[in-house]
Amino acid sequence: MGISIVEAIPLRIKRDEAYLGGIPQAADPAAYFTRPPYRALYSAYFETAFVKITTDDGIIGWGEALSPVAPEVVCTIIEQLLAPVLMGRDPLDGNVLWNVMYDLMRERGYYGGFMLDAISACDTALWDLRGKLLNQPVYKLLGGAFRERIPCYVSGLPRPTAEERVSLALEFVEDGFSAFKLAAGHGLRADAASVKALRDALGEETALLLDAHWVYALDEAVQLGHALTDQGVGFFEAPINPEDIESHARLAAAVAVPIAHGETERTRYQFRPWLMQKAADILQPDVGRAGISETIKIAAMAEAFNVRMAPHLSVGLGICISASIHVAAAIPNLYMLEYQPPVFAIANMLLESPLICEAGYYEIPSGAGLGVELDEGRLLDLQA
Ligand code: MG
Repeated sequence: MGISIVEAIPLRIKRDEAYLGGIPQAADPAAYFTRPPYRALYSAYFETAFVKITTDDGIIGWGEALSPVAPEVVCTIIEQLLAPVLMGRDPLDGNVLWNVMYDLMRERGYYGGFMLDAISACDTALWDLRGKLLNQPVYKLLGGAFRERIPCYVSGLPRPTAEERVSLALEFVEDGFSAFKLAAGHGLRADAASVKALRDALGEETALLLDAHWVYALDEAVQLGHALTDQGVGFFEAPINPEDIESHARLAAAVAVPIAHGETERTRYQFRPWLMQKAADILQPDVGRAGISETIKIAAMAEAFNVRMAPHLSVGLGICISASIHVAAAIPNLYMLEYQPPVFAIANMLLESPLICEAGYYEIPSGAGLGVELDEGRLLDLQA
């Protein structure tokens, strides 16, 4: 039994509300844009890259690379570089195949970025395939579930004023959610005030988290870190530019609030210095960038440093979300998994049967493999 077809499928779906809030009205809807103070490119669409790996027996495994923009890049890497070496190989040899893929461009310096996103999508598809071949859910193949359901936090609260953010959070509280992350980075005073408004409204028992989107310098991050400590914030994410491990280490030493980092990194090699230098208290790899195999290895390495895991989950759709849930089930050092309600709703539109996230917890899909099936007809219908 071997791999006989590898297909990469870029997807672009129309949406009303962009990730993190409003879409600029004047912009060409097909063009990407930035949203100051954030410097990253965003899309007015939901974009992602799926990979479908089929064996010569007709068994199918699905993978997904987090591709907020330009999913065609990942798809080209899969089709031109990865598919040829996967063809004919035994899908049960997942660890070997990860290394084969990783080595293809390693000596040319492609051991991060889009290359790893593409490898990760294939890695996840191979896990789904193995689960289906062995008739077991992926978390069982990973060694079993440490928990019956996965605790999560509501990410974003994309509303312009503190009042509106509080009222949105209160709607989730009514539905049983008790952890929230603010997309911040709007200046020290504004960020501290946003957190205080939520803390005052939601009380001491609610977990509050803050993502600064890499906008601060070290001295600013230290000041804000102290304010967040006073508000009992659960973690302070992406305070400083991600290349600057040394400043994160100094920040982590200076403030009590846990420092969270990781959506920019993809491999155990990239996370290693963060642990060695004690630059992060919580690691946040995204399974859509690190894949299942590597995220499990990163979690094991973090465990040896007493560091917890809060896997990042942003605009990845159903395959990426399910893969993240299986990983979150199978690692001992989980803090919480991210939950993006608007993305989750879109993800479920593409699945034959929906994923469930209720009252602060994801349910773990129990079917073979990832336990979710993409509705390929829907996928074609929704393609913008
Ligand atoms: Mg983030």
